[in-house]
Amino acid sequence: MPCKILIIEDEEKIARFIELELVHEGYEVDKCTDGREGLEKAESGIYDLILLDIMLPGLNGLEVLRRLRKTSSVPVIMLTARDAVMDKVSGLDLGADDYITKPFAIEELLARIRLGLRHNGGNAAQQSEDLTHGALSLSVSRHEVHYGEDLIELTAREFTLLQTLLENKNIVLSRNTLLERVWGYDYMGETNVVDVYIRYLRSKLDDVYGIHIIHTVRGVGYVIKD
Ligand code: CA
Repeated sequence: MPCKILIIEDEEKIARFIELELVHEGYEVDKCTDGREGLEKAESGIYDLILLDIMLPGLNGLEVLRRLRKTSSVPVIMLTARDAVMDKVSGLDLGADDYITKPFAIEELLARIRLGLRHNGGNAAQQSEDLTHGALSLSVSRHEVHYGEDLIELTAREFTLLQTLLENKNIVLSRNTLLERVWGYDYMGETNVVDVYIRYLRSKLDDVYGIHIIHTVRGVGYVIKD
């Protein structure tokens, strides 16, 4: 069955351009130009991935995302204007899985979409065991992280980052290695995205539970030690 993608973007030229490319790649595509309508469609649960513009009539993209995240963990890629750093940070804070800056190369967008879909679909059959570290446990098949009894809410990207670190315990992973494994070799964005996501993980794990799981190796990268 083809993957279904929803484009929420009010610039019709951009939306049509993306739609044509995605259909050409074999995706099924819906699009809408209004935030409210977009949220309603996104909440229907029939989409495998959402492309979400920020400046939208009706309801802006960040608000659409905030409301959507109350009920859905569908992968969301934000479409942001050039240099709108605050939008990127807010979007990631609100649970966006990725963002792409306009104008973008279609190949880059396609790569991000493939990655978003891959993390969503996973490959549960091949990787069903739990990864643990002290009271922390990560179930690949159930896509859940627990600390003791507590369920920890992570975005798809945070989950994959934590999984990668747990799978390579005691091995220092460089930013580039993490970029490749978590964001894909064709990731074209800023490399400090790794640091940003490490901070998110720490704020959800270390700060909440008073533990220190992810160690920084200065000038090299990050590691989880036994
Ligand atoms: Ca717009």
